[in-house]
Amino acid sequence: MDFSTALGKLMDYASRYLALKKRNEIYARNTVLMLLGRESWEECAAVYEGEPLAVLLDALTAEIDEAEREKVQDAVMGAVMLSPAEVEDAFSAHYAKSPADATDWFYRYCVASNYVKKALLDQNPRFTGSNGLVVTINRTKPEFRDPKKAMSGNSVKGGYPKCSICRENEGYSPRGKRTLRTVSFTLADGKWFWQFSPYGYFYQHGIAVNERHTPMHVDGATFAALMDFLDAFPHYFIGCNAALPSIGGSVLAHDHFQGGGEMLPMFAAKVAVPLRHDRFPGLEMGILDWFNTVVRIEGEDAGAVMAASELIANFWKSYRNEALGLIPEDENGRHHAVSPTVYMNGRKYCMNLIFRSNITSSEFPDGVFHVHPEFHIIKKESIGLIEAQGLFILPGRLVEQLGALKKAIAAGSLPPELEEFRLLYDEIGQMDGDPDACIREELASICERMLQNTAVFKTHAETAEFLKGAGFYVE
Ligand SMILES: [Zn+2]
Repeated sequence: MDFSTALGKLMDYASRYLALKKRNEIYARNTVLMLLGRESWEECAAVYEGEPLAVLLDALTAEIDEAEREKVQDAVMGAVMLSPAEVEDAFSAHYAKSPADATDWFYRYCVASNYVKKALLDQNPRFTGSNGLVVTINRTKPEFRDPKKAMSGNSVKGGYPKCSICRENEGYSPRGKRTLRTVSFTLADGKWFWQFSPYGYFYQHGIAVNERHTPMHVDGATFAALMDFLDAFPHYFIGCNAALPSIGGSVLAHDHFQGGGEMLPMFAAKVAVPLRHDRFPGLEMGILDWFNTVVRIEGEDAGAVMAASELIANFWKSYRNEALGLIPEDENGRHHAVSPTVYMNGRKYCMNLIFRSNITSSEFPDGVFHVHPEFHIIKKESIGLIEAQGLFILPGRLVEQLGALKKAIAAGSLPPELEEFRLLYDEIGQMDGDPDACIREELASICERMLQNTAVFKTHAETAEFLKGAGFYVE
């Protein structure tokens, strides 16, 4: 496709899908010419005919240095879309119809602007294991096998913007954020904003971010903010990573939540051990039938759900049980934290508290309640909020590696270069059936065992014993 046809089609696309106004068309086109280092184009009335956006953008930037191309394409899209204030106004207008109408519109808009890379995401393999866990292989996101590197990837030396999720990233070209748009709201007396993740793990995956660059924390104010979020967006779930290093959160420097429009596998889990507490007669509570340690607290009274959550979270933060390796604090700092995640179940607020510990030992230098070394070939990164809820994001390299493993299984011998996959090879060898189905089941089974590694209590009886100390009793 020649340059001028691509430009004509892009302008038509922008007027149809990005709400580019007729009155702004000339100015927007001239901005695109400037960004591409051009002084003119051959005027044409090309019509957008459903081509993948990438085809138009590649044609427009064919002469741009390859290293710069992605950033320039982002800038081009940023030039033909609505401004942040216009997006905010449109979001409010849709919100007046319904919260779901607003988030649906905003998500579609972010896909149309190419900020959310949906076409790439749709190519990621995804399946559900017989144990209910959802496994995706993310080919678009780089793998951080070193947790320290993962941390440094998000912190910024020198200060502007202070981190990768500060609102100052909106339109910030060095990070390819010309197409980033965010929308504002208030949670627990504080100003927050929402943005969708460009490489989201599930439908409408996004983050709610505190407008202030203030460190992650999980306390009473967090629970209040989560409840306010549900009042504003009752069709979403929302949660946050534990506010300690190595147990999920990669951006600890900036207070934020994660959530979106898909109900994750853990939400379907049932209560295995119902609990009561004299202070909270109106709440349904219990230990969840799930692979890691989770307590669910449910009720129509948001204040009571928050109070019970805070009681348990605080009790856990100082809980000591050396026989189980649970040390709340030592010379390396604090080790116990919770990941809360909430959704609406009809009129009831449903809080799920996931218990985490980042303590290490000489046997497990990456963490006792971390994925154990025999599974690092599948995943070494820490298990975050989304995976703790049963949606796994495995590294893209596995597509090639599992393909090679499948050949090895068919050939009946494991070549030396695949020796790391011995565990999978042996276990799949015990299974019957279609090789692809066996590999999928094996992956889901390993994900289950990885979650069990992160369980701070290995039995419901141990969890119940812990909760007894905070005044809970088994019904
Ligand atoms: Zn920040």
